[in-house]
Amino acid sequence: MTSAPCPHLEEVGTVRQSRRRQCDECVKTGDAWLHLRTCQTCAATLCCDSSPNRHASKHAQASGHPVISSAEPGERWLYCYSDDAMMEY
Ligand SMILES: [Zn+2]
Ligand SMILES: [Zn+2]
Ligand SMILES: [Zn+2]
Repeated sequence: MTSAPCPHLEEVGTVRQSRRRQCDECVKTGDAWLHLRTCQTCAATLCCDSSPNRHASKHAQASGHPVISSAEPGERWLYCYSDDAMMEY
């Protein structure tokens, strides 16, 4: 890890990886998603801000879990919704 741009990203030790290749919320309603993100607090797998339902963003607001990672293959970055901060790992 390089130096983190905010305290939430600083707290992430081992990056949690997605358990599933689907958005936990979109599958319930049959909606489509674009990219997947993983909550670093509870490991929920949710869809990105370019997806129609933006579940990762809604989850961050509702739960107070600010940090997500990209769950896309080959992408290694973390993002904090609270601080609009991003870092690669
Ligand atoms: Zn932060
Ligand atoms: Zn979704
Ligand atoms: Zn969460």
